[in-house]
Amino acid sequence: MLKNKAILITGAASGIGRKCAEVFAGHGARVLVTDMSVEAGEDVVAGIRAQGGEASFQRCDVTDEASVAAAVDTAVERYGRLDGAMNNAGIEMRNKPVHELTAQDIAAVIGVDLVGVFYCLKHQFRVMKDSGGGAIVNTASSSGLRGQVNASDYVAAKHGVVGLTKAVACDGGPLGIRVNALCPGLIMTPMAKDRLMQDPVFSQALDGLRQRHVIGRFGEMEEIANAATFLLSDMSSFMTGSPMIVDGGYSI
Ligand code: NAD
Repeated sequence: MLKNKAILITGAASGIGRKCAEVFAGHGARVLVTDMSVEAGEDVVAGIRAQGGEASFQRCDVTDEASVAAAVDTAVERYGRLDGAMNNAGIEMRNKPVHELTAQDIAAVIGVDLVGVFYCLKHQFRVMKDSGGGAIVNTASSSGLRGQVNASDYVAAKHGVVGLTKAVACDGGPLGIRVNALCPGLIMTPMAKDRLMQDPVFSQALDGLRQRHVIGRFGEMEEIANAATFLLSDMSSFMTGSPMIVDGGYSI
């Protein structure tokens, strides 16, 4: 579905981003794996190459605009163009009520989860507008569609990503650039399993959270990667500005 498409992914050394890199390469894409974490990112590339796929690594911190610009330019240098991008790097909420959040807490979560996506879109548009367009997916969350206790930092950032997706889709229409968002429910990644589910505050809400996923379980990374593949492929050619919900029914 993605044969020969050059696709950049942020936060691709772990979790959803890592699985997406593997699945996109399996569909024939040439993947630029980017992350702050160099060793884990290079490991993802080695795994893809061992399966016969095409991938390379570039360090990218999405909170640093120059680093984002360099990653986008690297994709164009290595692959000749940028057909697709998945703006996925993210960090979890600080698990505090709003009155306990420090200025640093707010800046950290908004900085990675919202401002980082802004920088990525800016520079991806810069190159895609001159090469006939492309498709972009922003990893939002079901927290981008509804409120959640002890998560105002994350909920605000992810609502921002959904709004940004809609606004930028308007800019992208005349340029041939489609921009959609993905809104996953709770997905079994290192963020969820190793950090959120181990957090004493978050884990108290786990039973209620599981019940609201009406399918009766949390999601698997491959289920998000399959949806992202669709959004980056020509199969979704009439979709733009859409917050695509992949959450086992959580948000209904
Ligand atoms: P993860 O922690 O497993 O992976 C996140 C990756 O992002 C890591 O490799 C990390 O190094 C990278 N990263 C963090 N800060 C970065 C920065 N400043 N620059 C570049 N890379 C950075 O997390 P995950 O669960 O795979 O989450 C991926 C995305 O999916 C995030 O945007 C998250 O908010 C979103 N999401 C996750 C879930 C879930 O339940 N896991 C649900 C909805 C949305």
